[in-house]
Amino acid sequence: MKLYSTKQKDALTGLKEAVMKGLPDDNGLYMPLEIPRLPASFIRNLGGYSFREIAFHICRALFKGAVPEDDLEELIGRAVNFPAPVVQLDDDKYVLELFHGPSLAFKDFGARFMAQLMSYFNREESRELVILVATSGDTGGAVAAGFLQTPGVKVVILYPSGKVSMLQEKQLTTLGHNILALEVDGTFDDCQEMVKKAFLDKELAGSIRLTSANSINISRLIPQTFYYFEAYKQLPDDGRPVVFSVPSGNFGNLTAGLMAQRMGLPVHHFIAATNANDVVPGYLESGLFNPRPSVRTLSNAMDVGNPSNFARMLDLYEGKEEGSTWNNMRKFISGYAFDDEQTRAAVAEISRRYNYTIDPHGAVGFLALEQYQKAHSNTKGVVLETAHPAKFLDEVEGILGREVAVPGRLAALAGREKEAVWMPADFGGFKEWLLGNLA
Ligand SMILES: *Cc1c(COP(=O)(O)O)cnc(C)c1O
Repeated sequence: MKLYSTKQKDALTGLKEAVMKGLPDDNGLYMPLEIPRLPASFIRNLGGYSFREIAFHICRALFKGAVPEDDLEELIGRAVNFPAPVVQLDDDKYVLELFHGPSLAFKDFGARFMAQLMSYFNREESRELVILVATSGDTGGAVAAGFLQTPGVKVVILYPSGKVSMLQEKQLTTLGHNILALEVDGTFDDCQEMVKKAFLDKELAGSIRLTSANSINISRLIPQTFYYFEAYKQLPDDGRPVVFSVPSGNFGNLTAGLMAQRMGLPVHHFIAATNANDVVPGYLESGLFNPRPSVRTLSNAMDVGNPSNFARMLDLYEGKEEGSTWNNMRKFISGYAFDDEQTRAAVAEISRRYNYTIDPHGAVGFLALEQYQKAHSNTKGVVLETAHPAKFLDEVEGILGREVAVPGRLAALAGREKEAVWMPADFGGFKEWLLGNLA
C-alpha cells in the first residue's frame, strides 16, 4: 500500500511509516494512493459476511500485502470485537449504534484498530513503544481502552486536573496495566504543549520510542469504513437509495464514509450534520471555507472550528477548474447545522415518537436527516449514533425528565480506584518523569 500527503502528492510512503508517524513532515494528511473498488459480487453478497469478514476484505484490498493475510485476520479479530447494530426508527429512518465499545463512542473503532496495527508494526522492535496523548476527556478514554494490554506498547495520558467529568477521569485512571495517567495541574492546552515539547526533545527521542495516537492517523480512519458496509448489510433490500447522516466535528467519520463509497458501497448521498460549528455546511452552501474558533455547544465532541479532515474531503473531490471541487463535493454531500435548542427538542421528540433514547450528537444527525428527507422522501436514511446517551447523562436525563440506563461497563467504573501521577504543568518535570519511568 502506498500513501501520499495531501500537501505533496508525489512523495509516497508505506503503510507502516504512515501509521507510526501519524502525520507527514509537511503537515498534510496521509491518503491512500489507491482506494480500490471491491468486487460487485462482494457488495451484492454483503449479507453473507460477518462484520470481521467485511473488515478483512476491505483491509486486504487496501493494504495490498502490507500485512500478510494471516496476521491481518488475527489483528482484525482483536480490533473488531464489538457489534455495530442498526435499529429501525420508522419506515425511512434507521440508527447505526456505534457505542458498543469500551468507551461508549465510535472512536473505539479507530482506537482499537490503530492499537493493533501499531503493536503489529512494532513487533520486531526491541524497545517498547510509548504513546503520548493529551486529552480533554473523550479521545483519551478511547485510546486508553484501545491500547489496554497491547504487547510492547505503553500509553501515557495527560489530562487537566478537575476539567474532565468523574466518569471520564475513571476511564483514564482505572485501567492499570500498560496505561499510565498523569493528572496535570493545568489546562488541556498545557497538556498539549507538554506533549508537543516531548516530541521535539532530542534527549527523549534518543532514549524512548515516542509516538502519538493522533486523531488524524490513517489507521483510525480505515476501520471507520467497516461499519458503513456493516450498516448497509443490515438494511432491508427494497431498492430505495441509502443516505447516511453523520454528526460531525473533525469530519473523520464522514471522510471514512466517502472512502467506503469509493470502494463501491452504493451510498446515494451523505449528510454532514453539525451544531453551531458549521464551517463545512457553510462551505457546501457557498463554496467558501471560513474556519473560525469553535463555540461551546451541547454536542461538545463536535465543537470544532477548523475540521482537520476537511483537507482529505477536498482531496477526494479535487477538480481541475475553478469551483469544480466544490461542485463535485456538493453532488455527494449536503450540510445542515442546528443549535442546542433544536438539539434538545429532538432528543425529547425522538424519545416520544420512537421510544428511543438518543444522545445530543445523534440528535443533530437525526435533525439533518429529517431536513434532507423533506426534499428527498424516497430515501432510506441511517443516522450514525456516535455515543451512548449515558455518556451525557445529566443533559439527557434533564431533557427527558427520566432516568437513562447506564451500561454496566460504565457504571462499574464509578467504584474503581483512581490511579494517577500528579504533575505540575511544566515540561521539565514531565521530561524527568518520562526518563525516570520509561527510559
Ligand atoms: C468525535 C465525536 C464526533 C465527531 O466525529 P468526527 O469524526 O471528528 O467528525 C461526533 N460525536 C461524538 C460522540 C464524538 O465523540
